[in-house]
Amino acid sequence: MKRLLVFSDLDGTLLDHHSYSWAPAGEALSRIAERDIPLILSSSKTRGEILQLRRQLNNGHPFIVENGSAVYIPAGYFKHPVGKPGGEFESRIFATGRDKILEVLDSLRKAHGFSFRGFNDMTTEELAAATGLSLEDACRANQRDCSEPIQWLGSDRALGLFRETLASHGLNLLRGGRFQHVMGDTDKARGVLWLMQCYRAAWPDREFLSVALGDSPNDRVMLETCDIPVVIKPARGEPLCLEDSNGVIYPEKPGPSGWQWAMDRLLEMYPG
Ligand SMILES: [Mg+2]
Repeated sequence: MKRLLVFSDLDGTLLDHHSYSWAPAGEALSRIAERDIPLILSSSKTRGEILQLRRQLNNGHPFIVENGSAVYIPAGYFKHPVGKPGGEFESRIFATGRDKILEVLDSLRKAHGFSFRGFNDMTTEELAAATGLSLEDACRANQRDCSEPIQWLGSDRALGLFRETLASHGLNLLRGGRFQHVMGDTDKARGVLWLMQCYRAAWPDREFLSVALGDSPNDRVMLETCDIPVVIKPARGEPLCLEDSNGVIYPEKPGPSGWQWAMDRLLEMYPG
């Protein structure tokens, strides 16, 4: 009997793009929990942000943070430790750590006089004001492992040079909404592949079938890595088109309604 492993993106996939509600997928979430099917949250969100959501969802499974930069596993979840111990969770970091990123940023600021302000330069109050988050949410957004969001305060020309200098240190600058994110090379597939190995090693006599659900370009490699990709219709624009469309599930409805629809089909196909 094949056992499902479900990897899911959050924003726009399990969570509604506008309301952040997962209610339309509530029934599927209950059925998955009843059958003890691992639901592994995989998002660009930070550890603190996912931890809060995981508690609200009553989810006790591993999770993937910051676009695959790190994986957290509840201590004792697998028979043998798989990551670095650290209290409630073991961790495995796949990208350049934030400490290293901050070191590079500091040296570049000193050497070139680049003008920017990062999360690490702000007090929690300043961070809350800059992000529009509450103090608690600002704290969670600042619990980062492998990236540093910055506000660029210099010229466009200096920004080009900044980007090039970062690249020479193996770091990228990704444009977000209000901030630009300094981070190393990372993608969601790395954490997914590594976790699949952990499940297979822990239960060698079981056959696992991986399912991935996602809506955005940063989900592509995760979708292409799993046995059954579910391409969720995004709130805006066209659904992702995967290289191999064989066996891809395309729900009609967006976000958590599409999530529910896809899981209904999968739970029927794999009733074990
Ligand atoms: Mg998304």
